[in-house]
Amino acid sequence: MEFQPSIELLDFFDTVFIDHQSADSDVAKRFTQIFPKNKIQFVDQQPWSELKRTLSAEEFDRSKKNLFITEFKGQFFKRCPGSSQAKVLNCCNYHVLNLGSQCNMNCSYCYLQSYLNTPIAKIYSNLDQALQELTDMSEKSAHLPFRVGTGEIIDSLSLDGLTLFSRKLIPFFQKLPHWTLEFKTKSDQVDQFLDLGPSPNTVVSWSLNCQEVIDQEEHRTASLEKRLLAAEKCIKAGFSVAFHLDPLIWHPDWKSNYLGLVNEIICRFTPEQVNVISMGTLRFQPEQKNMMRQRFGLSSLVTSAEMFPSEGAKLRYDASLRHEMFRTLYNQFKKNNEKWKIFLCMETPETWVSALDSQPSHKPELKELFRPLPKV
Ligand code: SF4
Repeated sequence: MEFQPSIELLDFFDTVFIDHQSADSDVAKRFTQIFPKNKIQFVDQQPWSELKRTLSAEEFDRSKKNLFITEFKGQFFKRCPGSSQAKVLNCCNYHVLNLGSQCNMNCSYCYLQSYLNTPIAKIYSNLDQALQELTDMSEKSAHLPFRVGTGEIIDSLSLDGLTLFSRKLIPFFQKLPHWTLEFKTKSDQVDQFLDLGPSPNTVVSWSLNCQEVIDQEEHRTASLEKRLLAAEKCIKAGFSVAFHLDPLIWHPDWKSNYLGLVNEIICRFTPEQVNVISMGTLRFQPEQKNMMRQRFGLSSLVTSAEMFPSEGAKLRYDASLRHEMFRTLYNQFKKNNEKWKIFLCMETPETWVSALDSQPSHKPELKELFRPLPKV
């Protein structure tokens, strides 16, 4: 029997709009089966398409609760945005595959607040086209260690119980053992694909934070415990896992809370079980400050933080605080075991040297990740 999503997830959405042109797609058929009839509407064009400006806070909130199933008209397969800033940021060889946009969860720092100007969440109905693009690429590049992530402008798994995209992607990547498929999530939605394991080149990765920050800033996400339990299930079923300690957010007890998080990982996992651990501190585009204030008020740790302009035009903590945070967590991992593979996400070479005493390409355990690839 096909996987049944939770009632809570179905209840979250007000309406699922299905583009008439996508009505015969697998994903549209599934949505018409799993959602109550009164939540489904077939349409000829995108709802609220007259809104062609930056969204207000209310419009952004509404966009989370309404889904539009439609075809993606452009090219699915793109390089990670960090690679365009390769001169200032150390970027790993990462490619993104967007199968939708917007998110049903609600983090105060979410970059979608300054990125999205579409008034509705989207799920793309032409996954087969995305797989065809990947097939074409694999003809030249199947031997290269490509990493393909699906969690850039939509959480990879929080809606996967609805779309079941993972059930097409995992078998596809199983035929390309040199490539890696990476799901990135703050949910605990993994039961829908566990039976497809073992699949060591599928990396299920979690953004982790201490529970105190999750409670205050990562609304409607899975608790830390639920994320770690889901990671344990994935390992047991033969999938690889990775953790992103990102964004590290300053708060009065940050040191003890984040050391507690590191200790929880160290106690429950071994370096051999965790592909990689990335770390990043809070960063966001200056233009999203207003939206964050309107949506989360000044009691949020994010809206009240003192931030400074830095690389990539983003606001970040000052360099000495960033370095202290990185060093504190890094040393705790390495004190436990030298084999933990840790890298800093979207950070400058100076930060690597100052916080970790070396460039990523000089760390033997990270060489493979940062090996330059030919342009595609
Ligand atoms: S889980 Fe990710 S995409 Fe979703 S709201 Fe949080 S930061 Fe944004």
